[in-house]
Amino acid sequence: MTLALIKNANVYAPEPLGTQHLLIGGNRILWMGNESLELPVPLREVSTIIDAAGLRTMPGLIDGHVHVTGGGGEAGFRTRVPPVPLSRFTTAGITTVVGLLGTDDVARGPTELLATLYALREEGLNAYGYAGGYHVPPATLTGSVRSDLVFVEALIGIGEVAISDHRSSQPTCDELLRIASECHLAGVMTGKAGILHLHLGDGPRGLELVREALEKSELPARVFNPTHVNRRRVLFDEAVELARRGSTVDITAFPVAADEDAWPASEALERYLASGAPPDRVTVSSDAGGCLPCFDADGRVSHMDVGSAGALLATLREALARGLALEAVLPAVTSNPAKLLRLTRKGTVAVGHDADLLVLDANGAVHTLLVRGEIHIRDGAPVLRGTFE
Ligand SMILES: [Zn+2]
Repeated sequence: MTLALIKNANVYAPEPLGTQHLLIGGNRILWMGNESLELPVPLREVSTIIDAAGLRTMPGLIDGHVHVTGGGGEAGFRTRVPPVPLSRFTTAGITTVVGLLGTDDVARGPTELLATLYALREEGLNAYGYAGGYHVPPATLTGSVRSDLVFVEALIGIGEVAISDHRSSQPTCDELLRIASECHLAGVMTGKAGILHLHLGDGPRGLELVREALEKSELPARVFNPTHVNRRRVLFDEAVELARRGSTVDITAFPVAADEDAWPASEALERYLASGAPPDRVTVSSDAGGCLPCFDADGRVSHMDVGSAGALLATLREALARGLALEAVLPAVTSNPAKLLRLTRKGTVAVGHDADLLVLDANGAVHTLLVRGEIHIRDGAPVLRGTFE
């Protein structure tokens, strides 16, 4: 068990707390204060002392949309993306991932997803997952998504169920409502997030189905959690309106070309925050390990790329370069996803919370990373790696 003292930390909790000293032990933040702390000699010999003077310390990033198994498979079996190894996350400042299945929920399934999540947990990362995948009825472990969520600890929601996309099951409003209700009820029973994470495609229907579902049912808006909302500018405007109604919307940090009808994540976040919509109802995720295919009019892949875990930190840096304050943009990758996912001890730097901590250097690169008190990155280099790295 690691005992660590982080001295002279300039803490963004995400709100700025100024210089603090943090005592870490038993996976948690045991103490934090602005008076310098000296450990008694016997403890000093068994602890790690980190001087974070001049560096910014914040919660580890929470990436709410990761294809941990590797996604893809859209242009033949050779296009199945391999699993994402541990250090790909930790070197990108990520301490918690939510893994999911996408287009391919037939050659891959919930058992492979869970095994990959548990492997990441064994390697020290915080890892949760969504039941199901793109399609309806969703792929399940136990026969229903409701019992998957009730009985499988690591599964906290359903997704990414695809709508407004040629790869979706073209679900009807009633089908979507049935899945959302299972999700909501499981959330009520367990205290888990119980959200329906929705993949939005390029289709012109956009969020129409979600609006219809809200009008036709008693389900709270928080259950519906659309992602990729910055892929079309009109869709993004719809998402901002949905956030005003109570949903949390997720921006994807994918690469955007200058002539594309999409917003890069940093610009989307700036536009969201300027819109006056609730600042705690927006998140940014990486889509790491996912395939980023482009299709021609017949639905054939013309070219593809793979989502990168580094995209979250890159988005933070870009947002800062656009003149936004760190405390304004940090919630979208820390406290906002923690609140949505009901991970109550994560996403903020506070006494009693999990010691998931990211220390950034002056260039915005990872200097130190702790996951539940264990040091994964020290002085910019990984000290722990995945089993096959
Ligand atoms: Zn997707």
